[in-house]
Amino acid sequence: MRVPLLDLNAQYEPIMKQVRQNIDQVLSTHQYILGPEVKQFEEMMEEFLNVNHAIGCASGTDALVLALRALNIGTGDEVITTPFTFFATAGTIHRVGAKPIFVDVKEDTYNIDPDLIEKAITNKTKAIMPVHLFGQPCEMDRIVQIAKKHNLYVIEDNAQGIGAVYDGQNAGTIGEIGTLSFFPSKNLGCMGDGGMCVTQDEELAKRLRQLRVHGENPKYFHKWVGFNSRLDTIQAAVLSAKLPHLAKWSEMRRENADYYYANMKDIKQIKMPVIHDKAVSIFNQFTLFAKDRDGLMKHLKKANIGCAIYYPLPLHLQECFGELCGKKGDCPVSERAAENVVSIPIYSELTKDQQDYVIDTIRGFYNK
Ligand SMILES: *Cc1c(COP(=O)(O)O)cnc(C)c1O
Repeated sequence: MRVPLLDLNAQYEPIMKQVRQNIDQVLSTHQYILGPEVKQFEEMMEEFLNVNHAIGCASGTDALVLALRALNIGTGDEVITTPFTFFATAGTIHRVGAKPIFVDVKEDTYNIDPDLIEKAITNKTKAIMPVHLFGQPCEMDRIVQIAKKHNLYVIEDNAQGIGAVYDGQNAGTIGEIGTLSFFPSKNLGCMGDGGMCVTQDEELAKRLRQLRVHGENPKYFHKWVGFNSRLDTIQAAVLSAKLPHLAKWSEMRRENADYYYANMKDIKQIKMPVIHDKAVSIFNQFTLFAKDRDGLMKHLKKANIGCAIYYPLPLHLQECFGELCGKKGDCPVSERAAENVVSIPIYSELTKDQQDYVIDTIRGFYNK
């Protein structure tokens, strides 16, 4: 048996006809830049997330840059975020000229620890950027409360949490701006790069729409210097074919997670994901904290089971930031996580046979 970490072909087969039909529609009109399919998909997303405005852009990374710039965050500003995330979260803060301030994560969820945020706030702090890691929303009630008290913006990096819910509200729609990524390995992936900003605020939406076309309004008149960052029309057409299936796909991931929970709870050498009471996760990853993680990974790979480390080096220790953003020991929980976590297959189309094989293989490793 072979169990990949993600099987995009299994997802593609049942929707192939619709995807191709939607792509053909774009090819028949040649409206490749901001064609009608982009607006149509944005409206579908507004409805799906119950949010006032959705603005498509070229990637999840660009969505973060656009969000930061729309809130006028730049040189000299500080943004509080987590070191245990994909690089883009902090890379974009750095790229707009601001400084990422890393606050450690919680032991159980790997999400930013609200208890540590206030200590990191200075008079330069402009925003908090929580990341809904692996598909589980952060403690948004507490984060929003801290932001309000200190007059800070909240930008939710929701690249991994599309459709996740915190206390009845959709992740990404709680702060000033939420960002999404349609990178192929996200729960809603396109066939290349794609991203989106969502916001409840009309003024911010207007700014985001202008920033993605070089800050122009009207055409060839530039209020500020923006970017070239649109969601491709062809990608929007692909995403429109996929979005109607997303809720069902996320439910299937949750069922797969439940199956792991039920059948691996006796394996004492691994700790499975802990989901907060108020949170509904979409399980972008199913991440174990595992004894002898590297040995387990070798064992899984030999058995043709896909697995990966998200993420092997916390961002405060990345070479590109030098000493600017921290040193070893600053974020001990993140550092420990980086040394012990491994993500195993959780994608929607995973069969029970495949899951049994994964479970038996993990059990076999620790029983040897
Ligand atoms: C994937 C991801 C991004 C970046 O998205 P791209 O579309 O690849 O640019 C940003 N933040 C997090 C947490 C991600 O997982």
